[in-house]
Amino acid sequence: MDRPDTTQQYRINIAIDGPAGAGKSSVARLVANQLSYIYVDTGSMYRAVTWYMLKQGIEPEMVDEVLHHTLNMVIELIPGVDGQKVLVDGEDVTYYIRTNQVNGIVSRYAQIEGLRNHMVQLQRQMALRKGVVMDGRDIGTTVLPDAEVKIFMTATVKERALRRFNELSEAEQTTLQQLERDIAQRDSLDEQREISPLRCADDAIVLDTTHMEINQVVDRIVSYCRRSQRDGESV
Ligand code: C5P
Repeated sequence: MDRPDTTQQYRINIAIDGPAGAGKSSVARLVANQLSYIYVDTGSMYRAVTWYMLKQGIEPEMVDEVLHHTLNMVIELIPGVDGQKVLVDGEDVTYYIRTNQVNGIVSRYAQIEGLRNHMVQLQRQMALRKGVVMDGRDIGTTVLPDAEVKIFMTATVKERALRRFNELSEAEQTTLQQLERDIAQRDSLDEQREISPLRCADDAIVLDTTHMEINQVVDRIVSYCRRSQRDGESV
């Protein structure tokens, strides 16, 4: 596939935030492909920490231990054709970080202040040279407040649960109603935590994707990015 030459253009960073299941990762990955930029899924970093703590039997309340292990673990995000691979201390955990067990508890580890500070530092380093599409909850507000393009993607809880339901494999037994409850609970933990809660940045463009196709969302974001690259300004 031909990729546009972005080397002559002003390199920018793109922040995509929003609640669980809004389609941020699929959209962010496609936007990054179109711009030949690097995609960083920050949720996978919180998930990787969660997977590790569950394996070690370290509960979210054991803050000192969580911090000690978090500071000593090596998380690698490796871009690939089939999506991003996640390694913890060299072990491929891409599959394990998406289980219901991790879904159910990740937001509780993500509330820990020291853990968040460490993740934010790592994420800022990844974006230093620009040319990054980063998705998460606090990218536009905290991690990259100077990102040239900031998007807040959302959709109704019902629609987000339905999208997740349609992606489930047969082995994952759950109901649409259960998914709706899980998503609503994760929204509320992410919105109400004290440290960098899920919030739309004042200068973000809000995209309600409830009635939009994924390609429409991607095209819209890419056009904002092209405008910013061309004009050298934030949109
Ligand atoms: O994006 P994803 O749903 O994979 O994120 C999993 C969880 O990680 C979120 O529900 C949230 O608790 C946490 N998270 C966060 N800040 C981010 C990205 C994810 O707190 N930037």
